[in-house]
Amino acid sequence: MGIWDKLLDGSFMPHGHCLLWLPDLLFLHVTGDALTVIAYFVIPTALVYLVNKRADLAFNWIFIMFAAFIFLCGVTHLLSLINIWHGYYYIEGISKLATGLISILTAVMVWRLVPAALAIPSNADFRSKNEALLKAQNELLAANQLLEQRVLERTRELEHQARTDALTGILNRGGLMERLKMEIDRASRYHQKLSVLMVDLDHFKDVNDKFGHLTGDAVLIEMSNLLIKAARATDVLGRFGGEEYLLVLPETDAQSARQLAERIRRDVEQHRFVQDDGSYLSLTCSIGVTELRADQDKTSLLQVVDRMLYDAKESGRNTVVVSDSDSAD
Ligand code: GH3
Ligand code: MG
Ligand code: MG
Repeated sequence: MGIWDKLLDGSFMPHGHCLLWLPDLLFLHVTGDALTVIAYFVIPTALVYLVNKRADLAFNWIFIMFAAFIFLCGVTHLLSLINIWHGYYYIEGISKLATGLISILTAVMVWRLVPAALAIPSNADFRSKNEALLKAQNELLAANQLLEQRVLERTRELEHQARTDALTGILNRGGLMERLKMEIDRASRYHQKLSVLMVDLDHFKDVNDKFGHLTGDAVLIEMSNLLIKAARATDVLGRFGGEEYLLVLPETDAQSARQLAERIRRDVEQHRFVQDDGSYLSLTCSIGVTELRADQDKTSLLQVVDRMLYDAKESGRNTVVVSDSDSAD
């Protein structure tokens, strides 16, 4: 007898005879097997679909093995169902053998998988790792904020340094020009008065020559302190050059500026610049004064005040010269 003849030989006694064709018994077996067949075909379909959709799934081959093993169980149940009426016991036997083999293989593989599956971190592990990561991230953010703050502070410091005269601590020429431009813009926009004073120590070179550079430096510091005291908080004081100071007086006309200049001239004249050895130095200064005109910008304003200072020097020093509105161009 050939293999095909054996497989298709339906002459065996069908299982229905064992059940004596009793309707209730038949119902139980048929329904039980039919439902199992449906489930055993649907489950592997779902597993194969899942594996196809999620290529990243860990151990996806075990899903395929389960799918094959459940599918073969389904085939065996289907044959049990058929064999109630026919007797294809060879085919059913082969199906059972295949199911057994794949089941054994799956059982072995499942056990081999256990250590690797156990090594997968649990949800609690993930949660605690996540918390640790979040904590580290927050720490990094805080460190970053601190760093940004330090950079900001340092930048401000450097910006301040860039505008400050190292010797006297008042504005240097760059800072002074910046503020002068701002004050001119403000005065022009709001039609306010603005005056400037250019103060220059008389024969300052002689101080350096007679008493040395260090004494000269100390005099420059004392002079700037004297000017700070004379000025209002809203006035802008800076070192324009070596021993030349510029005082910008917002909301001040030429008349008031002249009074302030006179006071400064007198203060300097009466001031005793103390030396290290306790001796005194007396100095005078010359001051140019001018008031901003509507058509003037920073450069032309500085030109006028510089000329007033020159005139003060020319007229014998220790004096104040104020530009009158006609000559101020
Ligand atoms: P004038 O009355 O015409 O203004 O005469 P002056 O000697 O005051 O003016 P001049 O421009 O001839 O000399 C200015 C001096 O100021 C020369 C320079 O050595 C000195 N000087 C400039 N900057 C500094 C500084 O930072 N420290 C010291 N000690 N001296 C300085
Ligand atoms: Mg001078
Ligand atoms: Mg000078």
